Amino acid sequence: MEVKISFLGGAKEVGRSSYLVDIGEKFLLDHGVKLGPIKTEYPSVVRTNLNAVILSHAHLDHSGNLPHLFDYMRSLVFMTPPTLDLSRLLWFDSIKIADREGKPPKFTKKEVDRLERFVFPTNYNRRLQLTENVAMEFFDAGHIMGAAMTKLEFKDRVLVYTGDFKAEETRLFQAADLKSVGKVDYLIMECCYGDRDHTPRKEEEKRFAEKVREIMENGGVALIPAFAIGRSQELVEILYEYKIEPVFFDGMGQKAARIMFNFPEYLKNKKYLQKALDNAFWVENRKMRKEALKQPSAIVTTAGMLTGGTVYEYLPKLYKDKNSGILLTGYQVEDTPGRILLEHKRIKLNGSDVKVSCQVERFDFSAHAGRSGLIKAVKTFQPEKIVLVHGEEEVMEVFAAYLREEEGFEVYTPKNGETVVL
Ligand SMILES: [Zn+2]
Ligand SMILES: [Zn+2]
Repeated sequence: MEVKISFLGGAKEVGRSSYLVDIGEKFLLDHGVKLGPIKTEYPSVVRTNLNAVILSHAHLDHSGNLPHLFDYMRSLVFMTPPTLDLSRLLWFDSIKIADREGKPPKFTKKEVDRLERFVFPTNYNRRLQLTENVAMEFFDAGHIMGAAMTKLEFKDRVLVYTGDFKAEETRLFQAADLKSVGKVDYLIMECCYGDRDHTPRKEEEKRFAEKVREIMENGGVALIPAFAIGRSQELVEILYEYKIEPVFFDGMGQKAARIMFNFPEYLKNKKYLQKALDNAFWVENRKMRKEALKQPSAIVTTAGMLTGGTVYEYLPKLYKDKNSGILLTGYQVEDTPGRILLEHKRIKLNGSDVKVSCQVERFDFSAHAGRSGLIKAVKTFQPEKIVLVHGEEEVMEVFAAYLREEEGFEVYTPKNGETVVL
C-alpha cells in the first residue's frame, strides 16, 4: 500500500498547515494561513478531488484558508463541534480585518456558509467509516478546546496526524490522549519545540503572577497580550488564583470564552474558570479602557503575537512607561510584531516604528508539546515512519537527527511543494 503525502504548506515552517494524504483515496489535513507583518501566505491550491477534509483545530494556521477551498470545490469536512464554533469566530474576524485594511478578502460570508453546510461535527473517540476502505477517529490533542489528533485506518495500516498537541495537562485541558491511539505506522507530527523543553507549568505560572504583582506594586500596568482561544482565559484564571486585582479582560478572548462555556465537557473545571472570569472586568468600551489605564492593573487582551486586536488600544499609552510591562505569553512566530518586540524592543504604532522602553518579558505558557512530550508521543506510537511538520527548519533538523541517531526512527523532513511516498 503506497502512502503519498503532498505538502501544500506548513512544512519546514510554522503556519499555513495543509497536507494532502493520498492512500488511494484523498484526504486533506488542515488548510491554514501564515500571517506575516506585511502579507498573508497561503498553502498551494488543491488540484484534485477530495474524499474528505479533516480540520485538526481552530487556530488560523490550520483553519484560516478552509473557506477559500469552498470557492472552488465541495467536500465533506470533519472537525469537532467546538472547532467549528471557534473557527467560525476566527473566519469572520479575518473577513473583518481584510475589510478594515482594504485588502481583497480570500473568502466572504458566502464561502463560510457553504463550508458549514458540508461540516460533519465529530467528537473524540468516535470511529467513523469515511469510505469503504478508510475509517477515521479523533483523539483529544490537549492543545486548545476541540483540538484533535486524527487517526486514519486503511487496510491494515494506520496513519496519525497529531495536529498541534500538548503531552502534559494544563489548567483548562487534559493532556493529549496518546495512549488511546494504539498502533501507528505513519506519523505526521508537529515539532514546534523539538529543540527544547518548557519550564514546568506551575513554576511559570508563579513567575508570571509575581511579575504582574511587581509591576502593579510599582504603580504600573501589566499589559498581557494573549491568544483569544484558551490562553487568555487561562491567564485570567491564574491571576484569579493568585488574587491579583483588578484584572481587565478585553478583545476576542471574550467571545471565545462564551463559546467555550457551550462545551463544558471539553473543559477540565468549568466552575472555577467561570468564577475567575466573573471576577474580571470585561472591557466593553473606550471608557473602560481609560479606567484600566488609570490605575495599577493587569490587562489581558488580544492578539497574542500583536498581529492586531485591542492590545493596540493600550500600547500607545504604555510603551514608554518604565513602570509598566508587556508580558508575552505564547509562541511568537518569526517576523510577527510580537517576535520583533521580543528581539528588538520595537513596535509599529500608527505606521511609525518606535523604540519600546517599558519592560518586555516572555513567559512560556505553550500549548505545544516540548521536546520530551514529542519524544513521549513517538515512543508511545512506535511508528514505522515519521514525517515532521509545523516547525522552523533549524529546530526540525536538530530534532530529526535525534530521532534518527538516538532512537533509530526513519524520519522525513519534507519542504513545501514536495510529495513524499512512504
Ligand atoms: Zn494551534
Ligand atoms: Zn499550529
